[in-house]
Amino acid sequence: MKGLKGKTALITGATSGIGQAIAIRLAQEGCHVAINYRRNPESAEDTQTQAMEKACHQMEDCGVRSLIVQGDVSQEVDIIKMVETTIEKLGSLDILINNAGIQTESPSHEVETADFDRVLNVNLRGAFLCARETIKHLLATNRPGVIINISSVHEIIPRPFYASYSISKGGMGNLTKTLALEYAQQGIRVNGIAPGATVTPINDDWTNDPEKRAVVESHIPMGRAGTTEEMAAAVAFLASDEAAYITGQTLFIDGGLTLYADFREAWSA
Ligand code: NAP
Repeated sequence: MKGLKGKTALITGATSGIGQAIAIRLAQEGCHVAINYRRNPESAEDTQTQAMEKACHQMEDCGVRSLIVQGDVSQEVDIIKMVETTIEKLGSLDILINNAGIQTESPSHEVETADFDRVLNVNLRGAFLCARETIKHLLATNRPGVIINISSVHEIIPRPFYASYSISKGGMGNLTKTLALEYAQQGIRVNGIAPGATVTPINDDWTNDPEKRAVVESHIPMGRAGTTEEMAAAVAFLASDEAAYITGQTLFIDGGLTLYADFREAWSA
């Protein structure tokens, strides 16, 4: 896609699922990729191998570089170091993908404060701090840039028993809009994608069980869960110059999940 070759992208939580697919796709598009992991260096190496194979298979002159960076996005010091290391080792930072995310399940009246804080710290505060450090670099070097937040359909659909997750993604929608407005004149575009049910390890409980999976998929108008590659394709588009006039938007990629499927048939004559 236009404008991606030679850009540098940092992808948080790139060791599995959607983050891994994004790292691979951006490398395939010719981006240098910084692959962030929290606790699993082997999975980060796996992402790196797959990314470089795709990048170098497709391009004759494979100038694509990659880097593995450890860091917990709930820790400010880790974020600062992660961004610094990316810039030092890969020369710049043009694209940030805020992908790292977690969820915990509990009736809201029984949620432990520490669990609530953990989810917000990773999903929302972490995304903000990563954006802040990236924007500092872009402004200091007078470069345009792109930030993409990996949100969720729960940015707009309430999710009982997952209040902290819903709240974090709702906040992320506002983060996207606020930063987009604040930095539009500096050439920094900020967008989000909101995946619906996607086949990744976060959903192992139903993706690996045919009966549970059928129930989940029965709620999706298109009748199937999404793939990580479908999410990564949209991210590549939003990061590219093909989306040069798009900012402050969240793109819902959900097989129609947010179309109120109950209204497919008339409720009364
Ligand atoms: P996943 O396979 O569980 O991947 C999550 C990634 O985030 C892992 O690489 C994990 O690394 C990393 N991570 C977690 N906490 C971190 C931290 N504190 N610092 C750095 N990295 C951390 O999940 P996924 O489904 O691909 O989810 C990716 C994003 O998509 C999340 O933001 C999620 O909310 C969003 N999303 C997913 C779906 C879906 O159906 N799958 C739907 C909507 C939105 P470790 O294993 O080392 O912790």
